[in-house]
Amino acid sequence: MMSDSSRRIRMRVTGLLAGATLLTAAGCGTGAEGSTGSGGTEGGRPEITAAMYPLQWLAEQVGGSDATVTGLTKPGVEPHDLELSPQVVAGLESTSLVVYIKGVQPAVDEAVEQHAADRGFDAATMVTTLPAGQGQGHEEEGGHAGEPGDGHGDEAGDEHGDEHGVSYDPHLWLDPSRFATVATKLGEKLAAADPAHAQGYKDRAAKLSADLTALDKELASGLANCGSDAMVTSHEAFGYLANRYGLHQIGISVDPDAEPSPARLAEVSEVAKREKVTTIFTETLVSPKVAEVLAQEVGATTAVLDPIESQPATGDYLSAMRQNLTTLKAALSCS
Ligand SMILES: [Zn+2]
Repeated sequence: MMSDSSRRIRMRVTGLLAGATLLTAAGCGTGAEGSTGSGGTEGGRPEITAAMYPLQWLAEQVGGSDATVTGLTKPGVEPHDLELSPQVVAGLESTSLVVYIKGVQPAVDEAVEQHAADRGFDAATMVTTLPAGQGQGHEEEGGHAGEPGDGHGDEAGDEHGDEHGVSYDPHLWLDPSRFATVATKLGEKLAAADPAHAQGYKDRAAKLSADLTALDKELASGLANCGSDAMVTSHEAFGYLANRYGLHQIGISVDPDAEPSPARLAEVSEVAKREKVTTIFTETLVSPKVAEVLAQEVGATTAVLDPIESQPATGDYLSAMRQNLTTLKAALSCS
């Protein structure tokens, strides 16, 4: 198991590589367009910088061949702790639009504020957000494990808010209906910024919105009749999915990098037993060790649920969400 410090180092190196890529892209753009003003789109395709995979995928679908999309988070990297090199941060000065979600990646939030404040596209401002740590859809129960005292004497939401500077749950891409709204808004934004290709942006956004709406319907019908509604997850990424489809998330930790305290583990274990949970969900980018120990303790098995914070090994956002649906239906005994 990789230690936290080695993870951080790996991410720093990856951040530097991302910087090299971005600089190359910016260099090419300048060469092709001659001398362009800062952040301008005149004479060239809009250059979109996307903070993490789901947003990069969304921007690529909407931008199509009319825009260039560069991602700040490379495949296989857990995005929350991403660090940006000075070169990457400086590169934001010449990008047309930064698509991000405030609260996911503090380094990106800070860089946008300082270098692209007039070109930020914050998806969290496009939809109704859920309070951090309360996406379980069972708020009235109060005091259940979705609002843990995880050794800090704080609610999950407060801790998340303290760490990321926002009070809402930022994982909004895991609700396709909200993500469809973001697609439409991005189409409108790009159409206004690049009027010559406005129809293309709007058409692609409409197609993507329809695809996401179809996915939303599949999830709604697939999760309508389940034997259990309790999802025990590695980190609290699935609040929007839970809220949208009437499930109840019990996150082992809020931050994928944080080791849960023994008190928190005991609490989750107790809830898992009480709710007769048969599957503990692990993630592709988080060590499954804690989840495996917990599963053993409560007599459950583990299954991988992808929070799609990074590019899936195969397929894309849509296929990863459909795989999540298949996994959830099996784990929660949905008919
Ligand atoms: Zn997350």
